[in-house]
Amino acid sequence: MNSGLKQIYELQKMDILLAQVVSRLRKLDSGEALKQAAEAASLQYEKTAAEHKRLTADLHDAELELRSVEEKLKSYEQKLWSGTVRNPKELENLEKEVHALKRQRSRLDERVLQLMDAVEASQKALEQARQQKEETEQTYHKHVEAYQAEKRKLEAEGVRLKGERQKLASQCDPSLLQRYEAIRQRHGGIGISRVEGDSCVVCHTRLSASALRAIKSGQVVQCENCQRLLYMEGA
Ligand SMILES: [Zn+2]
Repeated sequence: MNSGLKQIYELQKMDILLAQVVSRLRKLDSGEALKQAAEAASLQYEKTAAEHKRLTADLHDAELELRSVEEKLKSYEQKLWSGTVRNPKELENLEKEVHALKRQRSRLDERVLQLMDAVEASQKALEQARQQKEETEQTYHKHVEAYQAEKRKLEAEGVRLKGERQKLASQCDPSLLQRYEAIRQRHGGIGISRVEGDSCVVCHTRLSASALRAIKSGQVVQCENCQRLLYMEGA
């Protein structure tokens, strides 16, 4: 039995586990898309808040203007009906003023109503945007927490496996280890194959009788087809 090959075969099991950890780490989603969604929702909220603020200020201005027009109108009407103005020209001018102010009041009434509707709608939009912002931010933060926990777990697993691998590698025959490493680099990370029956497990090639004899006698043999070291359990 070639115990050197058995050690190399055990080492490869560890290398495969390590490669799986590395691959899983690489595939982890850091949540970039969710982050962008949260940022977009936050931006939308700010835009909606600014629009709501602008409409509220416009409504306030329109209400103030309406009040001042109403006060002016009241005083002109009082003047008109008080009997203190008798000059026809002056009366005519006053009447014209009153008409103009009434038209202005009607325009302002309409504007105030329109703005009230707009403020109500923007209030609703703001509430929706706030909810959307909170939900997307929460989703992103939850994802980041899970991502970081998984990343830490895999990194710890990687460190543990590397340590064990190093320990095992230090016990391997150096020239055999070097051969394994060289084959592994050329052949997709797999440097040694098990022999099952009379075939190489990796490439399924049937091995020659002489190769099988050599393996059974404890010699180091490479697969004629895939070049990998061959390991036979119990050989
Ligand atoms: Zn093979």
